[in-house]
Amino acid sequence: MTEKITPAQPEHVACAVCMEEIPATVATSQEGDEYAQHFCGLECYDKWKHQQAEEPEGNDKG
Ligand SMILES: [Zn+2]
Repeated sequence: MTEKITPAQPEHVACAVCMEEIPATVATSQEGDEYAQHFCGLECYDKWKHQQAEEPEGNDKG
């Protein structure tokens, strides 16, 4: 049994919008109220911001 040697790679994070994995070094991060979100780019960051803005309240959908 040989153990696989994993190459040292930078920490990756998942974009909060498109779930794309990007290196934490290039990720756009937003320190939210509870935890930080990561984004692959400003485009996704903008989308996320809009989503936060229009937070659905009292969804009475079955
Ligand atoms: Zn993204």
